[in-house]
Amino acid sequence: MAEKIASFTCGAWHTAPGAGALVHHAVSGEPLYEVSSDGLDFQAMTAWARAKGGPALRKMTFHQRARMLKAVARYLLERKESFYEISKATGATRKDSWIDIEGGIGTLFTYASKGRRELPDEPFHVDGPIEMLGANRTFAGQHICVPLEGVAVHINAFNFPCWGMLEKLGPTFLAGMPAIVKPASVSCYVTRAVVAAILESELLPPGSLQLICGGTGDLLEHLTCQDVVTFTGSKDTGTRLKQHQVVLEHSVRFNLEADSLNYSILGPDAHPKTAEFELFVREVAREMTVKAGQKCTVIRRVLVPARYESDVIAAVQSALAKIPLGDPSDDSVRMGPLVSREHAADVRSQVARLLASCSVVVGSLEQFPVRAKHPEQGAFFPPLLLRCGLPLQANEAHEVEAFGPVSTLLPYSSIEEAIELARRGGGSLCGSVFTADDQVARELCLGTAPFHGRLLLVNEQCAGESTGHGSPLPHLVHGGPGRAGGGEELGGIRSVFHYMQRTAVQGSPQRLSVICNRWLSGAETKHDQVHPFRKYFDELQIGETWVTHRRTVTEADIVAFAGLSGDYFYAHMDDGAARASIFKNRVAHGYFLVSAAAGLFVDPAPGPVLANYGLENLRFLKPVYIGDTIHVRLTCAQKTARDLDPMPDGGPQGIVAWDVSIYNQLEEEVAHYTVLTLVARKLDAAVTSE
Ligand code: NAP
Repeated sequence: MAEKIASFTCGAWHTAPGAGALVHHAVSGEPLYEVSSDGLDFQAMTAWARAKGGPALRKMTFHQRARMLKAVARYLLERKESFYEISKATGATRKDSWIDIEGGIGTLFTYASKGRRELPDEPFHVDGPIEMLGANRTFAGQHICVPLEGVAVHINAFNFPCWGMLEKLGPTFLAGMPAIVKPASVSCYVTRAVVAAILESELLPPGSLQLICGGTGDLLEHLTCQDVVTFTGSKDTGTRLKQHQVVLEHSVRFNLEADSLNYSILGPDAHPKTAEFELFVREVAREMTVKAGQKCTVIRRVLVPARYESDVIAAVQSALAKIPLGDPSDDSVRMGPLVSREHAADVRSQVARLLASCSVVVGSLEQFPVRAKHPEQGAFFPPLLLRCGLPLQANEAHEVEAFGPVSTLLPYSSIEEAIELARRGGGSLCGSVFTADDQVARELCLGTAPFHGRLLLVNEQCAGESTGHGSPLPHLVHGGPGRAGGGEELGGIRSVFHYMQRTAVQGSPQRLSVICNRWLSGAETKHDQVHPFRKYFDELQIGETWVTHRRTVTEADIVAFAGLSGDYFYAHMDDGAARASIFKNRVAHGYFLVSAAAGLFVDPAPGPVLANYGLENLRFLKPVYIGDTIHVRLTCAQKTARDLDPMPDGGPQGIVAWDVSIYNQLEEEVAHYTVLTLVARKLDAAVTSE
């Protein structure tokens, strides 16, 4: 008997009372699960997320949320084999499931690491530098990004039941928002298993994660301007939901990721004996068959120079012949069935539409070998390469997506024509170019970039490390204009801001500094008799400032520094040339100034400051001449505690960002930068403040 798939709402699992839609095993066709969301209270779900999960997540800092993501990722990784087992029923091979399961968990790890490295240890983000708005520096503006106070509703496509959820949850939780996940019914049992493991881990605050298996009922009716909807799936469904009355009325943020007719171009230089030709053919065959072509990023349109058409067809045919179709439990099988027989019928009908202007050149719809006991019961579908002979005149290849192992070859006769054909997709997630010629790559890249979210430019040099045409990466933007939905996901920390409100705050620098918990230019400074390098991390105060003694720059300094560094640039060393230069006289080396500044502000004896960690945003603002007298202002601008995990040198530490200005005798700022230092923490204070 089919198992009923429960949803997790308002802190408990709920099974629908009546019968649900039947979900079948993709290989054997046997009924496995019943899916229904009947009886769920969708309004209560949104209220639960807003009342429970949101406030708890917002209390945490980015670093705490990042650590939480890492712990969840570790927890899931330890249980990955159970997910592989469940995923088999979708027809996935081990490799297909690896992309979904370990790819999804890997995305969480990436967000955990990026959150710690690129975001502050604060509950909200300070976006960009302060903008001074008044001539007297008493009025300024600062952008901040704060978490939205509603719930993120993630409606996902069937093809990546694990990755599709985790790639959205990473940025959502990092931003501090709770989520309601709605996977596609046909593969929701995989999502259910992953959600159950996450909940069982008790690593998330209650109310952070809810799951709907089945329809969304009246969920969208209860959304407000603080909520977000992210939709991944077909253009038709997505467009319909985006036009929902409540979404429009309340300007609910809506991110749409839809179908895409991605291109790959074989460069005109890549004749059949080149490495790029071979790489191209391999990529086309891989893209057609991984996940049985059920990926939004698959190469759907294969653009090849007309003169190499028959070579490409022959090579793709021979590559596909090495990828047996069948039951993935058979070790020799490399491509599994589609997710369901219904979906196979849908792909077949889309192929029929394509055949209005295309013909099949590799594969057969009628006869194809399947390595399975009962092929007729599974959702098997053969890899098909179609060909459109008149790609500039016919529309089907540019408009119809057969969401399976189906691609269409389009011959082109010039670079301009290739660009025009690529753009006919009307906006796609990704495109790729295989060429050894950098100029060809440049032309194709710039010619197609406005219509694409991501472009992969392959040559022999990068092929070994290339992540492939069809792999969205957490570091890079995933999404595309036009037909692809116009949305944007991933792209590193960019995607975290989709769940936050960017607000421009205006006021005095001091007030902005207090709000942002970091010293901003123009804010008050605090002074103490004790040198800041004698203080532990926990004793330092934001705004604490040390103004140094003075030092006059001499010719001997410049000559000595030139000798020490080997930098004899004329502006420092050649009197005549310096006089003729923009400086009108010899100037001190910028790096000498930075070194001399360190000599002025450093307190040399051993103490809590452990190391110089780096230097950022260095600008030399005015030249310093022989005879000028410099001094330095060092201000504690920002403090970031590090984990209490043992450090290589033993003790707990924090990073202190010091805002540094070097001035001349006229109090003119001659250089400005940020110095990062590692500062020891006092263990007692560190433990109590965690
Ligand atoms: P779909 O039929 O549009 O369904 C997508 C999601 O929407 C499913 O969770 C579905 O749930 C839900 N849904 C359908 N009708 C709804 C409604 N009236 N209200 C609320 N939710 C509704 O797409 P699919 O068949 O799952 O996925 C295949 C398509 O997705 C392909 O076209 C592919 O190109 C696209 N895709 C795009 C991306 C991308 O990143 N751009 C990624 C993957 C897939 P039920 O299953 O319960 O109906």
